[in-house]
Amino acid sequence: MDSPPSSGEHRAVRPSWTCEDCGSLWPCPERRASLLEEYAFDRLALLVFMSGLFAAAIDDFHQHNIDGGSDLYERFLGWARPSYQRDGLLWSP
Ligand SMILES: [Zn+2]
Repeated sequence: MDSPPSSGEHRAVRPSWTCEDCGSLWPCPERRASLLEEYAFDRLALLVFMSGLFAAAIDDFHQHNIDGGSDLYERFLGWARPSYQRDGLLWSP
């Protein structure tokens, strides 16, 4: 697989779903922080976005026989769930 030049945007490298910049499991802490900033006023949209990537990652792991680990839900979605107490949202999972 070609490795494109690093963009500094901490994007996912598929099918391994590792970060192109820091090599951590994607989304890495830097990417999570930037996503939370991007979607600061629309956490539901962030969850929809991450749900699509979650499904794509599961598909990649399955097709390429990659062990994605046992905490995929937490890795892709758990961190993005709103804390309604903190954010004052009425929605809760
Ligand atoms: Zn990264």
